[in-house]
Amino acid sequence: AAVEGFDAEDVEEAIDEAGHGPLPVLAVVGRPNVGKSTLVNRIIGRREAVVEDRPGVTRDRVTYEAEWAGRRFKLVDTGGWEQDVLGIDASVAAQAEFAIEAADAVVFVVDATVGPTDTDEAVVKLLRRSGKPVVLCANKVDGPSGEADAAMLWSLGLGEPHPVSALHGRGTGDMLDAVLDVLPDAPAQTFGTAVGGPRRIALIGRPNVGKSSLLNKVAGEERVVVNEMAGTTRDPVDELIELGGVTWKFVDTAGIRRRVHLQEGADYYASLRTAAAVEKAEVAVVLIDASESISVQDQRIITMAVEAGRAMVIAYNKWDTLDEERRYYLEREIETELGQIAWAPRVNVSAATGRHMEKLVPAIETALAGWETRVPTGRLNAFLGEIVASHPHPIRGGKQPRILFGTQAGTKPPRFVLFASGFLEHGYRRFVERRLREEFGFEGTPLHISVRVRE
Ligand code: GDP
Ligand code: GDP
Repeated sequence: AAVEGFDAEDVEEAIDEAGHGPLPVLAVVGRPNVGKSTLVNRIIGRREAVVEDRPGVTRDRVTYEAEWAGRRFKLVDTGGWEQDVLGIDASVAAQAEFAIEAADAVVFVVDATVGPTDTDEAVVKLLRRSGKPVVLCANKVDGPSGEADAAMLWSLGLGEPHPVSALHGRGTGDMLDAVLDVLPDAPAQTFGTAVGGPRRIALIGRPNVGKSSLLNKVAGEERVVVNEMAGTTRDPVDELIELGGVTWKFVDTAGIRRRVHLQEGADYYASLRTAAAVEKAEVAVVLIDASESISVQDQRIITMAVEAGRAMVIAYNKWDTLDEERRYYLEREIETELGQIAWAPRVNVSAATGRHMEKLVPAIETALAGWETRVPTGRLNAFLGEIVASHPHPIRGGKQPRILFGTQAGTKPPRFVLFASGFLEHGYRRFVERRLREEFGFEGTPLHISVRVRE
């Protein structure tokens, strides 16, 4: 497409870039203190102090976008959680299990100055079982004298150990090259098998909102037990559940059913579980306890799903406990706290009584439809032309930036690129998004809108 004042190649490149599907996921796993956080910081160029990542300190961010050699991917950081409650092996295993589950490839970090430990061996077993590609990072090789330590790690049976100093950056480039060799272009488990298969739902929400109650309600106790015992589901953490005559895959339900009682690190553990579930899902059903005030933690979980670009439904649970006063305040809270996601379909349910369970599936279907909507370029530009004519951008410094052309570069979620003659202010972008939603629906989906400005 030729756009006034833009190079044809630039236009194509912009559309390509904006249209990228979901990014492949790379997880960094290993024992505490081997240098995972240091490595993650180095890869994403983060300057934040590692000391902030202490157990008990709420870590809401566990995934980051990163780039190496022009390729983008998501990085899952498991560095923030230590072994306090479960004991080292169990906690490292639990943490690695979630991360590996959500990943398309794994960097396994070992402290080369210590050599392989029993805990490392336990993680190796998990990695083997997963069948995922693994790059072995022999960390703390700060100089040539450490190379011999790195070579000792051949004994783990994971192939070539890559000597790295996460602290100084030595060897990280070569290691990342090796990662890119094994990392698929797109997240295979999330989207590769999607065609015709069951749609994937992540049931998320902070502890005690009623996730396991809801899962039991929709699945029926009996069926769940059968699945778990006979191992009839292919993936033990996912469950196939029939709802409204359609089979759905509820992903990562083991984390919901296996009630892990942790004190310190529990928040972080929950964040990691949520991130893993969201990565694997197409649509997130966010459960909120309607009997309590909407919390920062609720907001964080919603943000995670939005940032991951998943379709979303909000289910207000425990509706059976609400009196008129609480209902009144809840509506006010939703308006003030969750105004940003007013586009998400909402259901008011009770996992206890079964109230409005039948509304869940239509809401999920609506969200998935919005997520997959594609607007033809002709219609989009007719609409953009109307906006520009009826609501032009405010004049700044004697100039009036104008949207020249737009196209939808991708779906799941819908991604748009707008080409403009000048910088579009935040407020104007928001306005365009709002009008896009009014015009084309997009119920239940975040929208990505990138703007290219003519040089
Ligand atoms: P995590 O628990 O696996 O996330 O480990 P951290 O990233 O918190 O690192 C643990 C300790 O090892 C910190 O004191 C780091 O400074 C140190 N460390 C990490 N990478 C290296 C490295 O490449 N060389 C050296 N000498 N120390 C490192
Ligand atoms: P999870 O931690 O999100 O899996 O939450 P649970 O399913 O374990 O539920 C936490 C508590 O809330 C339990 O005591 C449930 O019985 C209760 N609960 C869950 N859903 C409802 C509901 O719809 N109404 C009422 N009154 N209680 C509920």
